[in-house]
Amino acid sequence: MRMQNEIVTLTRREAILRTALVTATAAAAYGSSPFTAVGADAPGAFALPPLGYALDALEPYIDAQTMQIHHDKHHAAYVTNLNKAVAATPSLAGKSIESLLRTLDSIPEGVRATVRNHGGGHANHALFWQQLRKNNGRGPSGELAKAIDSTFGGFDGFRSKFSEAATKQFGSGWAWLTVSENKRLAIESTPNQDSPLSQGRTPLLGIDVWEHAYYLKYQNRRPDYITAFYQVIDWDVVADRFSKSAG
Ligand code: MN
Repeated sequence: MRMQNEIVTLTRREAILRTALVTATAAAAYGSSPFTAVGADAPGAFALPPLGYALDALEPYIDAQTMQIHHDKHHAAYVTNLNKAVAATPSLAGKSIESLLRTLDSIPEGVRATVRNHGGGHANHALFWQQLRKNNGRGPSGELAKAIDSTFGGFDGFRSKFSEAATKQFGSGWAWLTVSENKRLAIESTPNQDSPLSQGRTPLLGIDVWEHAYYLKYQNRRPDYITAFYQVIDWDVVADRFSKSAG
């Protein structure tokens, strides 16, 4: 009996230790880049990054059920399919997702569409989760705010152009605030899971306008979802991406 207890205690302790270790590793890797493979069990394999906050943290703007299905099912599927393509293509081994998407044209034709769609899906969603946080109406500040003002004539100008791009994207896709190498901001949209990285630009902020991102709560009312989205932009994350972008 005593021995059995000891075994149980050890196992529990071991389990706690293991959980703490995995969490710490995941947090460290996720902090360095949203694209970093976390908990990968093979070199070059990609893994689903943790949300980093509770599923209901964005309520009432984005509901918990949408977050759960979107992250645990949709994003997970992009990661699974990307990993299959990478595992079947030795020349892709060890490359970062940024590098794969920035050099799509040089990827073997047989897996190019998979990397474009599922690699893009992985990269886009990794960026998406990290930039979301209830902001209590706070907008951008610092250098990013100055750049937004000079490019779009103020925050309202930015918001109106960004919303227009998100509204007018026909079917599934994304609207983006991007920065190019000369540090110039732009608003653009991409179809499906295409990434601005494949166009030589760096995404700073993206809104997912696939129906899976909003349909449970907003049904067909994409404009209402877009309006709510401004309440959950973590402008500190966006500003950090801007300051780290090539200039
Ligand atoms: Mn999505």
